[in-house]
Amino acid sequence: MAPLAPIGKFSRSRIVTPPRVVYHQQSEITPESSHLMPHAPLRLLILGAHPDDCEYHAGGLAAIYREAGHAVKMVSVTNGESGHFEISGEKLAAIRRDEARVAAAVIDAESAVWEHPDGRLLPMIELREQVIREIRRYRPDLVLTHRPNDYHPDHRAVGQAVQDASYLVTVPPICPDVPHLRHDPVVGYLPDLFTKPTRLAGDVVIDVTDRLDAIVRMLAAHRSQFFEWLPYHAGRQDEVPIDDSAQRAWLRDWYLEKIRRFAQIYRKELIATYGSDRGAAIEYCEVFEISEYAAPLDAAARQRLFWFVPSG
Ligand SMILES: [Zn+2]
Repeated sequence: MAPLAPIGKFSRSRIVTPPRVVYHQQSEITPESSHLMPHAPLRLLILGAHPDDCEYHAGGLAAIYREAGHAVKMVSVTNGESGHFEISGEKLAAIRRDEARVAAAVIDAESAVWEHPDGRLLPMIELREQVIREIRRYRPDLVLTHRPNDYHPDHRAVGQAVQDASYLVTVPPICPDVPHLRHDPVVGYLPDLFTKPTRLAGDVVIDVTDRLDAIVRMLAAHRSQFFEWLPYHAGRQDEVPIDDSAQRAWLRDWYLEKIRRFAQIYRKELIATYGSDRGAAIEYCEVFEISEYAAPLDAAARQRLFWFVPSG
């Protein structure tokens, strides 16, 4: 995930408790059943480098999918064993597996943490083939991952592996132990603010205002990160409140500052998508760039995958 950036001032946001959302069980949505059904539930696969990346970058979209009864799987490619200043190795990996499980349970999504060591990931052939097998077995309609240019080498490695897998999932002699796919899924890149060589294209912008509570609850499950490691790394440990509810409010304020920047940068895309009134008023959004190396996001795919977006 992105480093904890300093913020000029904290604005204590009003804590809003939206109506409790019931997430339908997704245990019965199997790759086989979903692709045989005429109105199949969609399948969203998010491949992040670390156990909090999926929720942090696409928690709003994941919540929207689960609310609609679609299937979501959040995969951490590394075990997160290096994300702390006092704990490391298997002890931290075990903590982070548990945090990822609790976070996914907030929206009843599927969660997996792979065993690659945190901070040592390379886009080698073994990782590419692991990703190919994962995509083939899960049969996602939409895959999300990091861009191959990013501050963190693990993020870059995962983005590269997914990009390299995107075409090969359809090639029969590659990983013949898992049946190949006849068609690529749509692949999208998780939001970031990096500008070299280019800023992330705002191909899909999503108003996540109504999902902030679910996102923050997911992030709060990653206690070792959002209340310990990231504040430590940013030199802001003394800002973290002791009390649980105050911690949640602190995290919410910090997170809102972060995604508010996306709404500011992608205002033009928000207006094009949601119209001038709503588009100008949206404060919190997630943004995704669609990869040109997998299935295109044509009008039909946009309508299917992002049915809840007005111009979709
Ligand atoms: Zn990360």
